[in-house]
Amino acid sequence: MGAQRRRSRDHSRRHSAHLMASQNPVAEAPNIWAVAQSQFDHAADKLDLDDGMRRVLRVPQRELTVNFPVTMDDGSVSVFTGHRVQHNVSRGPGKGGIRYHQDVTLDEVRALAMWMSWKCAVVNIPYGGAKGGVVVDPKQLSMREVEGLTRRFTTEISVLIGPERDIPAPDVNTNAQTMAWIMDTYSMHHGYTIAGVVTGKPIAVGGSLGRNEATARGAVFTLQQWAKAKNEPLEGATVAIQGYGNAGSIAATLLAAEGSKVIAVSDSTGGIHNPAGLDPAKVGAWKQEHGTVVGFPGSTEVTNQEILEVECDILVPAALENQITKHNADRVRARVIAEAANGPTTPEADAILHDRGVFLIPDILCNAGGVTVSYFEWVQDMQSFFWTEGRINESLKEIMDQAFAAVHAMSERHEVDMRTAAYMVAVARVAEATTLRGLYP
Ligand code: NAD
Repeated sequence: MGAQRRRSRDHSRRHSAHLMASQNPVAEAPNIWAVAQSQFDHAADKLDLDDGMRRVLRVPQRELTVNFPVTMDDGSVSVFTGHRVQHNVSRGPGKGGIRYHQDVTLDEVRALAMWMSWKCAVVNIPYGGAKGGVVVDPKQLSMREVEGLTRRFTTEISVLIGPERDIPAPDVNTNAQTMAWIMDTYSMHHGYTIAGVVTGKPIAVGGSLGRNEATARGAVFTLQQWAKAKNEPLEGATVAIQGYGNAGSIAATLLAAEGSKVIAVSDSTGGIHNPAGLDPAKVGAWKQEHGTVVGFPGSTEVTNQEILEVECDILVPAALENQITKHNADRVRARVIAEAANGPTTPEADAILHDRGVFLIPDILCNAGGVTVSYFEWVQDMQSFFWTEGRINESLKEIMDQAFAAVHAMSERHEVDMRTAAYMVAVARVAEATTLRGLYP
């Protein structure tokens, strides 16, 4: 066993070297697949996971790449490339979004699929991890072209997806309408409606109440648990939020309802700050009318980097990955960071924040409310019986509270930061399921 552990650690070290070498010196954006694997290695080291299990969990189980034709509006034919990756399906069907973006790569989809395995395991919902993506800038396509692309991509990946096998959802540049087209295409293949093949659908075709607010609501439940654990009231706490879309704007509204004071928010065009407090609903209406939060009456302008360094109690990154880095982590003044976004903090920044005593609620825990209510949507579809919003929010709270407690206990027991603890909880659950099922044949 000692030799086995040594081999594993050597392997981790080799991997860290590769991670550094693969960094892009211009953008300094690490290869996220290398990051995902190194995060896994770190948790595996802490858990003393044996080498065989590391080899199984360190790579995706299935990867499908498809090149498929779409007839464009002018009659020409374009060929697009897409991927669907299932990282691990030992705990249940694969679950994860489909992203449309010109920068999609197989490595990115692999990382996102692995993160979905851990996210579903942290909140203990019976899913494995999967993700999909198509290399396309949908803003350059007409609505009819996007529909054609979606329907053909669905057909190409239908060898993998299905309500019992792998259940896609929206991600970057895909939405409820995209999910309705996927559900319809899959249903046409089978000759009857199969609503449970995707989640994040419109309510009219089997979507769930509460799904739209679920990510932000889940993040606020984790903040409530932090407040309870640290005896820090949310009432009166000051909040800065980077990103004012679905996750960020709804988090602002829900935190204001808790009595917190939202003092700074931003979107892709810039940010606003008012130490006396901003009214989230009024900021939303301003953004609706002007297409930006900037210029909101009574506020001063801040940049998207400055917003991360604003004097506040709670910082909610709710926009992009790689925002808190080794360059600014020592200037973050919040006492708690709630990662509504996926991957907003780099591994180097994690270490700096931990040393400085900043409490971080990691993405795979903090934003897992979205996939949790997706799970409720799937359960409702499979039973053709739909729940009230009250029941959905109560069940979400129960799951988020249990997940926070499990991660926090792990973090205290092993004296590790909350991200490492979340990975340890998740990897241990996936490893347990994989071990119990055994290796076939
Ligand atoms: P969204 O598109 O609704 O909102 C994104 C917001 O970020 C917009 O306000 C946009 O203007 C802003 N933004 C874009 N570029 C920015 C920049 N450079 N600086 C600051 N702000 C910028 O997206 P969303 O669904 O709210 O997702 C936000 C984050 O939350 C993503 O990381 C996403 O992966 C994560 N997330 C979302 C869900 C969900 O259910 N919506 C679930 C899990 C994780």
